[in-house]
Formats: sequence, C-alpha cells, structure tokens
Amino acid sequence: MAMQRTPLLMSNIIDRGARVAPNEEVVTLTESGVRRQSYKETRDRAHQLAHALAGAGIGIGDRVGTFMWNGSRHLEAYHACAGMGAVLHTLNIRLSERDLEYIINHAEDQLIIVDADILPLLEKMQGKIPQVRQVIVATEEGFEGWSTKLPNAVDYETFIAGQPTTYEWPQIDENSPLGLCYTSGTTGNPKGVEYEHRSQYLHTMAQGMTDAMGLSGADTVCGVVPMFHAMGWGVPWAALMLGCKQVMPHRFMDPARLMELMVAEGVTLSAGVPTIWQGVKSLYEANPDAYDFSSLSRLTCGGSAPPPSLIRWFWDTLGVEMIHGWGMTETSPLATLSRRVMKRSQLDISEDEQFENVAKAGQLMPGLEVDIFDENFNRLPHDGETVGEILIRGPWICSEYFNNPQPDKFHEGWLITGDVGKIDPEEYLIIADRSKDLVKSGGEWISSVDLENHIVGLAGVAQACVVAQPHPKWDERPIALVVLGAGAEVSTEQILDHCETAFAKWQLPDDVLYVDSIPLTSTGKMDKKIVRADLAAQGYQLPSLR
Ligand code: ADP
Repeated sequence: MAMQRTPLLMSNIIDRGARVAPNEEVVTLTESGVRRQSYKETRDRAHQLAHALAGAGIGIGDRVGTFMWNGSRHLEAYHACAGMGAVLHTLNIRLSERDLEYIINHAEDQLIIVDADILPLLEKMQGKIPQVRQVIVATEEGFEGWSTKLPNAVDYETFIAGQPTTYEWPQIDENSPLGLCYTSGTTGNPKGVEYEHRSQYLHTMAQGMTDAMGLSGADTVCGVVPMFHAMGWGVPWAALMLGCKQVMPHRFMDPARLMELMVAEGVTLSAGVPTIWQGVKSLYEANPDAYDFSSLSRLTCGGSAPPPSLIRWFWDTLGVEMIHGWGMTETSPLATLSRRVMKRSQLDISEDEQFENVAKAGQLMPGLEVDIFDENFNRLPHDGETVGEILIRGPWICSEYFNNPQPDKFHEGWLITGDVGKIDPEEYLIIADRSKDLVKSGGEWISSVDLENHIVGLAGVAQACVVAQPHPKWDERPIALVVLGAGAEVSTEQILDHCETAFAKWQLPDDVLYVDSIPLTSTGKMDKKIVRADLAAQGYQLPSLR
C-alpha cells in the first residue's frame, strides 16, 4: 500500500469551508430583510446540532427528516447529519399527504426538523407517523409564536443551545449511507434513493470542475433548486467544502424576491429548473431597469430541457452563461453538463454553434459511463441520429432503491434512466424525451421536448407543453398546449407555420390548445401526467376524430 486509505467521508470535506473562509457568509432571506451568519458560526452550530441529535438518540445510520426550505438551518442539518453519520432524509414539502406519509414511514424517520411556516403541512401527519419521536421547529421572523400538536416539539434554538461546538466526527465506512431522497413518484409509490459518503464525496469533487458547474470559493452561490430535491444538486455540499458565500431564498420563491436577493447579494452563480429562469426573464423584460445583474455570471439549469431561446436570451441580454445539466435523483444528480466552451477547438466555432452545444444535455462527468441501447440492450451508434434508451453507471449512480430493489429499473449494473436520447460523434448526450412522454406516431417517434422548445422560440409564446393523444390509425398524435405572454396574440396557424420550418409535416401537432397555465410537478416541471388526465377527463378528442 503506497497511499493512505483515507475513507471518502463527507465529514472530511464539509468543515473545510469554515476553516479556509471562516468569515464568509451564509445569507438567508427573511420577511423584512436577510439573516446573516458566518461559516464559522454555521460550522459551530452544525456541530452543536449533531450533539443535540445524538442526545435525542440519533446514532449512525439513523434517519433524520428535514421538512425545510433552503436556509442556513437546513444547511446545518446537512452538515450535522453528514458529520455524525446519520442519514439526512430531505422531505419534499410539496408532496401529497399520501406520499408524505408513505415516505416518512418507509424511511422510518425518527426525528424531523421542520420550518415553522410549513408546520401546518407536516401537522397533517399527526397520528400517522408513529416512529417519529420528536419534531424540531426552526423559526424565522414572523413565526416565533408557533404551536403544534405534533409530539415532543422543541424549538431548534433551544434544542442546540449550550451544546459543545466541536463533535468528533466518527470514522465510519465510506460506503455508509449519508442521505435519502425519494423520487416524485410519477407512477406508484415514491422510490427512495440512498446516497452514500463515497458517492457524494466523488460527486462533490467532480461538480466543482470548470467543465462541470465551475464552482469556486470566490463564488457567491444561490441554490434555487430546493435542498429537498436531489441534495440541492449537490450545491450545499460543494459550497461547504469550498467556503463560497451562500445565498438562500428560504420560502420566497417568487421571481421578484429572488431577483432582488440575487442582485443585492451579488450572486455570481445560481442553479435551478428552466421554469425559474423563464420567470426571471419575463420579469426582467417587463422592467429591465429595475435589476442590475452585472455580478451574475453563470446559471446552472437542468431538471428539464431549457429552451435554446432561453439559453440565448440570458447570454445576449445579460451576458450570463447558462450551464446545462442532465441528471436525476438516481444519479446524485449530476451526470452530464454542457458549457459554451469545453475544449479548445470550440473557441474557434461561431457563437451559434457554441450555443447549439449548450442546448445538448452535455458531456459525461468523469468517472461515469453513459450509453444508448435498443430494446434488446444492444449498444447503438453515437452518430447523433440514432435514438435509444439511455443507461448510465458509475460511482454516484443508484444501484437499487432503498428497501425496494426494483430489478427492472437496472440492467447488468446499469441504471435504466427512463430517458431516451442520442449521442453525437463528439460524445454529447442529447435527450429526446422521457420514454413515457415520447409521441409514437405511425411507428415513428416525435420528441415532445423538441416541439416544445421550438414553439416557445416564437415571440409571444410563454410556455408550450406537447403531449400524445390516442389515435386509432397512428397510435398517437401530438397536440400542443400553449400559454401566451401577457397581451400577446399568436394564432394556431402561426404556431403550425413556425413548426413547419423545423419539423416534417407528420410531426406537427394536430391541435393547439390555449391555456392559462400548465400544471407543474412538485419539482417545478410540467406535469404531463396531469395534463393527459385532464384532457381525458374533459373527453378531449383530436380534431380529426370529432
Ligand atoms: P422527477 O422529475 O421524477 O422528480 P428527477 O428530478 O430525478 O425526478 O428528474 C429526472 C428527470 O428529469 C430525468 O430523467 C429527465 O427526464 C429530466 N431531465 C433532467 N435534466 C434534463 C435535461 N437537461 N433535459 C431534459 N430532461 C431532463
């Protein structure tokens, strides 16, 4: 053995930020302003929380639920659980009561830390989550006078008060569990993905690379993606390690508050789903003089495909580079990323070509392997044309679901992602669709994502959602639901003419429905399951079948 076998424990990296940048800030948005604390304070409070959790009977491997917004106390919970070897179970606060009850019980959470303003949501679980021994209530301005019927509720500050500010992090196996996150469960019960120390450690290291999210200790980072969603895309971990200033929006997720916060705190890098950035764009366009985004340099965008027009708008209007990522809860989540320039030869291509690359899901993070396969699991060519099932494997890819193995989601060590796409000769992954959202028309596939992205490129269209509708001859035909911008008028003919510039005639939507909004999932993506169910409930028929 020539090298030391230091286990890849998150506890070996999460205290680093506080050590190298003790005075750097963690900023949380509040009702009337912001609350600031230093990294040193955050670290000390996390160690205090670990002591308090241990005092409440939490040991290595025990699950601690969090029902929280992005804020400094949630960060402390990340830090404390990882350090002490407990398992941080981030509960998605937007789940239905049924799913929430299921996941708290399935995970056997022993204790839940909850933000006081959403205590009423958790209270609906009263009497249904018998193994939860205690709830710890974190208060922000305006919610100090909370009360609850949940058992053994204690104020977060009381809970940690007087505890020692150093906890000797235990040396545990690097493959020990670290976190638990359930997927939104578009079908059946939510499935738990358990992250481990080694997997998250490697993910965190890769995440900071310039050709990945390009995080630096000099950044001011604002994770808009919720910390209950795939570990906030790893941003909290990387920031704890690097010591970058963290700006956390807490419950104020409307674009106006978010933009004011980002401007006021000089955010340089943010991360969120495309719907957030669409909202920012609309607000900025309505009042361009109100926001000075000169500090902002990069936005990491993923979770669903950002329209190329949106990527371009941020660059042309604000000089902000959108970094496009693809991944899922099961992949920790970063799997592929795309930046404007990722190799020297891309310095010399046109901006249009550079942005064509950004619109692709990107190139693999080092250490992972991704490929496309046909239905018999034969590998398909990387010609940028052939579409196949995307499978992925590597040290931060899920190998089975938590206490629910689901062997049909895996194949010989690969995760079957449920996405379909192609890989081009430059090894860029291009997502065509989710396999269940592809429109299968007459034996050919139509990508709902491609149509949507094209339609939103038309002036006046704010959002587009393409779903399949049953057809007796063609199996399925696409239709488009469209939300127009305020005051805009765009006819069906204009939309179809616009589609015809990029798609074959048989790929055009059979119908365009104008709607006020598109239902979103708990993670802010268009909820096509609900769209399809609503259409069925209304007895919708394709025009040719009426
Ligand atoms: P869910 O949306 O089911 O809660 P995830 O948040 O894990 O679960 O979402 C993962 C899915 O989101 C991927 O399988 C893929 O379909 C979609 N997705 C993520 N990033 C992208 C992207 N850049 N382009 C297109 N689709 C994406």
